[in-house]
Amino acid sequence: MKLILLGAPGSGKGTQAEFISRELSIPTISTGAIFREEMQKGTKIGLKVKEYIDAGMLVPDETVLEVIRERLAREDCKNGYILDGFPRTIHQAEALDRITDIDYVISLEVPDADIEKRLTGRRVCSKCGKTYHIKYDDTARSGICNECGGALTVREDDKPETVRARLDVYHKQSEPLKDYYRNKGKLKSVEGTGPVDEIRKLILEALSV
Ligand code: AMP
Repeated sequence: MKLILLGAPGSGKGTQAEFISRELSIPTISTGAIFREEMQKGTKIGLKVKEYIDAGMLVPDETVLEVIRERLAREDCKNGYILDGFPRTIHQAEALDRITDIDYVISLEVPDADIEKRLTGRRVCSKCGKTYHIKYDDTARSGICNECGGALTVREDDKPETVRARLDVYHKQSEPLKDYYRNKGKLKSVEGTGPVDEIRKLILEALSV
């Protein structure tokens, strides 16, 4: 199955992708995670994308497409995948249509006020990328990842000013994707507030698996 998770930054795409990935045994491809890894390694792509990411802006389409084309061509994508954070513009969606045929698009609906609270309290493991929230996880308060022992950090782009910029970018550039996929009959909207397990159930129901 080839699946896209749409939704504002912090709408829970990453968390839900983790569940679905395990449930369906397909990989999650997160362009944001790929970029963060490239930045950490200090590669050419990492250096190129850093200024956009730190400012809460979108990385230019051609760079994103270069990365995604290479990633989707790998062996582990043969039986399908979950796209988390891609596409984010109509141009990217059109390019994806030329690469493959997507089965479903799940849009996680979360109000902006909730998003701001979620993102500013988010902590990310500097080693394995697992995310926590200071309000809900003891781990987040202890500052040490319970999976790998890495130190938890605040993402540069989770600072309040940048969160507002990212939400603005989402509404202007990425939300039109909902109509794009609705018109193709592929969009399934899911309420993204409430307990994580409930949302997960709603997603699996929407996918009829
Ligand atoms: P994310 O982890 O999905 O929130 O992505 C973090 C940042 O990476 C975004 O705020 C963008 O700057 C950049 N990014 C990730 N995916 C894309 C994409 N598909 N198109 C443009 N920029 C992206």
